[in-house]
Amino acid sequence: MYETECIVVGAGVVGLAVARELALAGREVIVLEAEKHKGLHASSRNTTVIHAGINYPAGSLKGRLCIEGKKRLYTYIAEHNIPHKQIGKLITSAVHSDDAGIDLLRKLQAKARTLGMEDLHLLSAKEVHHMEPEVLCSGALWSPTSGIIDVHAYMDALVGDIEDHRGSLALASPVRAGQVKNGRINLQIDDSAQTEISCRTLINAAGLNAPLVARAILGRSHEDIPPRLLAKGTYCVLKRPSPFNHLVYPAPHGVHASLDLGGQLRFGPDSEWIDEIDYQVDERRIKPFYEKIRHFWPGLRDGDLAPGWVGIRAKIGTGKTNDTDFRIDRTELDGALIIDLFGIDSPGLTASLALAAEVKGFL
Ligand SMILES: Cc1cc2nc3c(=O)[nH]c(=O)nc-3n(C[C@H](O)[C@H](O)[C@H](O)COP(=O)(O)OP(=O)(O)OC[C@H]3O[C@@H](n4cnc5c(N)ncnc54)[C@H](O)[C@@H]3O)c2cc1C
Repeated sequence: MYETECIVVGAGVVGLAVARELALAGREVIVLEAEKHKGLHASSRNTTVIHAGINYPAGSLKGRLCIEGKKRLYTYIAEHNIPHKQIGKLITSAVHSDDAGIDLLRKLQAKARTLGMEDLHLLSAKEVHHMEPEVLCSGALWSPTSGIIDVHAYMDALVGDIEDHRGSLALASPVRAGQVKNGRINLQIDDSAQTEISCRTLINAAGLNAPLVARAILGRSHEDIPPRLLAKGTYCVLKRPSPFNHLVYPAPHGVHASLDLGGQLRFGPDSEWIDEIDYQVDERRIKPFYEKIRHFWPGLRDGDLAPGWVGIRAKIGTGKTNDTDFRIDRTELDGALIIDLFGIDSPGLTASLALAAEVKGFL
């Protein structure tokens, strides 16, 4: 049986950020990743937006860690030369929403101020027109610090930091089961050698599988482990050059328009509950996008949209999207420590470095 101090299960942005934080703090750390490559799940199937943290309830972990994470991420990006663009986000109000739409933006701005964000500006429809001539709205809240990032370059940099500090990443190493025994956690890996490895501290950052990994560990209570809930999100992409230069997010629940670093315009994701992980794009989901997009972009033509990709959000709540917070559980058993990261959906990418610092604080 191999022995180490800390094991992180899952090499997505969050698991890697946590492992980096621990390695930098001088901890011995191994990341166990089920797949042959890092970051194949939520971390490479998202919108790649660095969010400002405006939309989350006051006092929520999502709100606090998004704001803190954004600051840390921009610093990290600058230090490591990670490709990104701080293109800003327009949170628009629908043209037919009249005063109610603008009131909503004012409330968002006021809430953002209480969270320390002084840089959000309310723009008139005319001002928005100067920035984005094709966007139809009655006004917008301008978030200048929102941006987009090359997530793969970010994950490469995190792995570089881990390995520079004597940490390591083991790919093709799915954690199948574990037992808590004599102050240690013994894990069985479903690799060709059926490797066994033990640690004192286990961080479960298995994303969609975090509830399953938690339940696979014997010797701990399974009572409080949340069920696994999966919300599938389908994207579509614009087949012609983007008319937009900024992120456009119609409030409160419109279809999001975002850009990648190559300038491709994408719409979505939408949301549907599913029982098993399924990354197939169901092309029937593309048609409803047209009507929703035309609410804020009447210039969309028939046949303009192509199927994009699917991302699945790790949910722990009971129904609506965005109604749950991140959940970090700390369980101490006979000197062994397990930290579970549940429900790390959006803004987990933006918050990743702050989540990592939060986890370190739990050790
Ligand atoms: C559709 C969508 C859009 C999003 N958009 C944004 C956005 O624009 N901005 C933003 O900030 N956030 C966004 N997010 C959120 C962000 O992508 C996630 O919060 C983040 O990627 C989660 O990272 P993770 O490391 O927790 O999970 P993952 O990236 O899913 O990584 C978990 C890893 O655990 C591994 N694993 C699972 N089971 C096991 C096992 N038994 N043994 C070993 N390894 C295992 C998996 O293979 C995987 O690599 C979005 C998410 C989705 C789904």
